[in-house]
Amino acid sequence: MAPPKKGDLTAEEKELLQVISEGNVQEAGRLLGSTNVRVNCLDQHGMTPLMHAAYKGKAEMCKLLLQHGADVNCNEHEHGYTALMFAGLSGSKDITRMMLEAGAETDVVNSVGRTAAQMAAFVGQHDCVTIINNFFSRERLDYYTKPQGLDKEPKLPVKLAGPLHKIITTTNLHPVRIILLIKENPLLAEVDALGKCYKILDLICEKCMKQREINEVLAMKMHYLSYIFQKCISFLKEQEDKLDGLIKSLLKGRDTDGFPYYQEKFLRECIRKFPWCEATLLQQLVRSIAPVEIGSDPTALSVLTQTITGQVGFVDAEFCTACGEKGADKRCSVCKMVTYCNQNCQKMHWFTHKKVCKKLKESREKQEAIDSQRQENAKQNKGCSMDGLS
Ligand SMILES: [Zn+2]
Ligand SMILES: [Zn+2]
Repeated sequence: MAPPKKGDLTAEEKELLQVISEGNVQEAGRLLGSTNVRVNCLDQHGMTPLMHAAYKGKAEMCKLLLQHGADVNCNEHEHGYTALMFAGLSGSKDITRMMLEAGAETDVVNSVGRTAAQMAAFVGQHDCVTIINNFFSRERLDYYTKPQGLDKEPKLPVKLAGPLHKIITTTNLHPVRIILLIKENPLLAEVDALGKCYKILDLICEKCMKQREINEVLAMKMHYLSYIFQKCISFLKEQEDKLDGLIKSLLKGRDTDGFPYYQEKFLRECIRKFPWCEATLLQQLVRSIAPVEIGSDPTALSVLTQTITGQVGFVDAEFCTACGEKGADKRCSVCKMVTYCNQNCQKMHWFTHKKVCKKLKESREKQEAIDSQRQENAKQNKGCSMDGLS
């Protein structure tokens, strides 16, 4: 069959596009079995069936098309849009992830120079932006599990690839969360393994900065993770309570207001140590953080998180005070001012929270009293004006 030409569709291919927009997976499957249907055919705008399915947010359909050999990186669209860009525009997290796992390139730009992540951000699909910016395929990491060049041994032992990959793809950048991820895997939580891993992270960081399409976001993330791994190593070597000691330091609040002073210093120092000082991203970060007094907003963690994951603000969801995980809903029963994922996180944080818990409770009660007084006054004032009317 001839290679696809724009707008040159067979009757069955036209039918397929119709069926895709209706979401009829079964009928699409039947049509894809026909010899008159090319899975990468192009409509008059250069859109493939996969682009249509992605744009319409039809996940099952995308899966089917990929199974039939749809080209995830087809770039014949009149404005240079790719299937990943359409996925991001649709706002479907599943489809965005599916396109990435199928090998979608993230650095491709459309006719006005925008990447898929930038387009998704433009239409407010921040979850898709997060997924795209933090995607790192397992194959890309597995490369290091094979000996390269003159090496006799691989740089990364196979058994470490899984746990390391999990940490690389995390979207919660809270340092305590990262250390918990390290701790939960005994293979990873020792000096030798961490040493191998941080060197891989540094290599990936360097690659991100030296490749043709520079990826500063991913480079910064790798640098950040590497920095935490190195801190873990020094705590494992030098401190009696090992990684728990590091977690404690990161959580410890200062006496005046409970603000985690060391954590803020730790993050600022890490960002400052990014080895490419001319990087635009680094300059942006430093500009946002440097003028902020320690203890005020924004924190270095929130600025870094926003830069790397694209998540704007910590709005409509509660975050764990100890580990930063989204969706935390257990409140401290005394002050009701902090939230945790679970009892473990609360326990981990108690040694420092207990110093401010009572103070927080008092200031909450004071605020509540002021609020209810204000409401009372408002009610009475309303009553007066009613009297005046009568
Ligand atoms: Zn937590
Ligand atoms: Zn409390």
